[in-house]
Amino acid sequence: MNRKNILFFSLLIFLINCEEKSKLELSQNKIIEYKVDCLFCKIPQNKETIIYAKFEHCFVIKDIKPVSPGHVLVIPYKHYDNWLVTPEHVQIGIVRAINEIKKLLDAEYHPDGYNIGINCGPLAGQTVMHLHVHVMPRYKGDNMTLKQVYSNSAKQ
Ligand code: 5GP
Ligand code: ZN
Repeated sequence: MNRKNILFFSLLIFLINCEEKSKLELSQNKIIEYKVDCLFCKIPQNKETIIYAKFEHCFVIKDIKPVSPGHVLVIPYKHYDNWLVTPEHVQIGIVRAINEIKKLLDAEYHPDGYNIGINCGPLAGQTVMHLHVHVMPRYKGDNMTLKQVYSNSAKQ
């Protein structure tokens, strides 16, 4: 390949990347890259979605189709396809956020237990390909088996 072709392909790759990703400016002058066509990447800019809580690496929203009252999703600002490809410092940020969100959910919903789950990949039931952790409060008498909890969340 000659120099002209190399330059052409480099420009093409650059333009393709520009189309798929853009920058999102968060508070405290923090800028992150997001995927333009991703539902969960768009949420921090979407004024209509109520953000239940915000943390350094992630935010929390109520699930649009909750399997139980108080079902929330903990979502990193930056796009990662799933937990298994997410850097450890973001995973740690998410774990800390879950501990904090549990306190808020306890105070608001008084549940008797929780299921906390992550689907990694379509085969495992993931329907939105941007990492999210389900935090699902459980209540005495709700009589759901783990299988029912996950089949309900996969039906969305
Ligand atoms: P998954 O099956 O990928 O693990 O879970 C995706 C979850 O995202 C489902 O529980 C679904 O109800 C929720 N969800 C999908 N779209 C939206 C949305 O636009 N807003 C909110 N709040 N939740 C959503
Ligand atoms: Zn995304």
